[in-house]
Formats: sequence, C-alpha cells, structure tokens
Amino acid sequence: MKRQLKTLLLACAVACGVVNGAANAQAPAFPDKPIVLVVPFAAGGPTDVVARMIAIPMGKSLGQTVLVENTVGAGGTIAATRVARAAPNGHTIFIHHMGMATAPALYKKLSFDPLKDFEYIGQVVDVPMTMLARKDFPANNFAELQTYIKANKEKVSLANAGLGAVSHLCGLLFMTAMETDLNTIPYKGTGPAMNDLLGGQVDLLCDQTTQTVPLIKEARVKVYGVTTLKRLSALPNVPTLDEQGLKGFEVKVWHGMYAPKDTPAAVIDKINVALRAALQDPMVKQRLADLSSDVPPMDKITPAGLKTHLEAEIKKWGPVIRKAGIYAD
Ligand code: ASP
Repeated sequence: MKRQLKTLLLACAVACGVVNGAANAQAPAFPDKPIVLVVPFAAGGPTDVVARMIAIPMGKSLGQTVLVENTVGAGGTIAATRVARAAPNGHTIFIHHMGMATAPALYKKLSFDPLKDFEYIGQVVDVPMTMLARKDFPANNFAELQTYIKANKEKVSLANAGLGAVSHLCGLLFMTAMETDLNTIPYKGTGPAMNDLLGGQVDLLCDQTTQTVPLIKEARVKVYGVTTLKRLSALPNVPTLDEQGLKGFEVKVWHGMYAPKDTPAAVIDKINVALRAALQDPMVKQRLADLSSDVPPMDKITPAGLKTHLEAEIKKWGPVIRKAGIYAD
C-alpha cells in the first residue's frame, strides 16, 4: 500500500512538474525556421509573380527565408485546404486573390471556410487584367475580334486557370458582354495557360498585368483591351474594353495574405509588419507601378482590413454566381 502511494505521488510529481514546466516554458521564437508561402496557382503566373516579389523582402524583415510553394488545382481551393489544415504557427502562410471570396458560391463541396479557417494578415495588391490573343490570331483589334467571334465562335478557345480563377471570371464576364459562348480550356494557373497562348495552342486569355505587361510591350501577344474603366499608365495606348463598347466592363483583382486559424496574434503581427515593409520596399513599389498594380492603403494591409473586404466580397459575389448558375460538383 505504502509502495503504491509512493508510486502515485511520484507519478503526480512528475506529471505536475511537466505541466508546470510547460507553463513556464518560453513560447518558441518566431520564426525559427523558413516560412512557406503557399501560392494556389502554377509557377510563372501572376499570383506567383507577386508572391516571389514580396517573399525576399519579407524574409529579410523576418530574418528567415520565405519559400514559395505552388500547390495547384481546382481554382486555388486545393491550396486553401492545405493551408487551413497546416499547423497554426506562422510557418505556413497563404496568398490568394479574390477567388477566396468566389469559392464558397462556386464550389458545392468546399473543404475549408474562408471565414472560419483562417487568420487574416492583410490585403496585398490590386491588379488589373488584359484581354489577349495569340500573336497570329486573325483579329487585329477589338472590332475585328467581335466580327471574328460572331462568325467563328465554335472555333475559338479561351484559356483560364480553373473554376474560381479570375481568368475564369473575367472570361465569363467577357462572354456575357459579347453575347457568346466560347470553348473554355482550364489550366492549373495562367502561367501554363500563357505558355500555350505563346505557343499558339489556345486563342484567347484574360490575365493580370503582373504577367502580361512585358509580353504586350514585346508584342508577343495581341491585346484587345484592359479591364479597368481608365487606361493604365503601363499601357497608355491600349484602350479599355469599356471605351470600346463593353460598357461597365471592370475587373480588378485584389489579393490577401492568410494564415491557418489560431495562429497566435503576436505571430500574425510579425508577419503583417514584414508584409507592410515589403510593400513599401522601393524596388517592389517600382515593379508594381510598372505593372499598373496598386499597393492598397495602409489601413487595408491589416487583418481587419482584409477580413472586412473578404466578408463584403463574399456577399457581393455569392448572388451573382448563384444567379449565373455556375458551380463545380
Ligand atoms: N491569373 C490566374 C487566375 O486566373 C492565377 C494565376 O496563375 O496566378 O486566377
């Protein structure tokens, strides 16, 4: 009996010691190893370009390398699921565009909830889009494109980066405005879609200026218009789709940075400081300006700024998508 009591007391002492020890232990310093920044589309595309642009200065601020990982497929939802299930310690973070707001309405079965499964770090950048064709596509300007599509719609292919990608949404808006229905071809990002446009395997693509400005300037693709209501300083000679007759045609792609739910507030704060510093880095600012992409105001590069915007965008896109009857099983 005495022996049993002694064993029990010993066990308790060990257990209590462990508990006390854990309570007294210092929270591990963050970051204590490289940080993985998950990009939901293929390498070389616009989201990847933005991620790689900010990864280096963010890494400098954080004192650890920020590694970009491309987890592709299903319009960005595979990557979002991966991040939602990652350890909430700040070593896995996520950059995604407005697909985070359209996914709940587009996907019947979604294995993450944009409003419940993440912590918000801040908005990142706002990027216009351009409507392009392969270099040898027969239509040389927007008027010719309209005529060509009217006569040949069954022959025309339109690439996108999958359901929920902004190239998909831009393509849908474009087809609605043009009152046509083209053959849409999904890719795992507009990086590979652009490779096929450059190689002549697909005809049309709507894509962000973070990928398209240099290709337009080098005349490696044909451009029919920009998706903003005003012309872009990076492409002053390219008319807007709006001014050419597609009244009100406007798509500007916002991006946000996220971490898994329950990532500690102090960690989110450190990452937010690094994100803000990266977006104020003179080289990053200049590169983004050269691509007519805007750094959001500082009050948007905050957890609250992103959360409020995401909530509003989910409310905005839900009814539009449901009305259009587009969804994935
Ligand atoms: N531009 C793509 C989209 O359409 C994504 C990407 O490849 O960055 O959503």
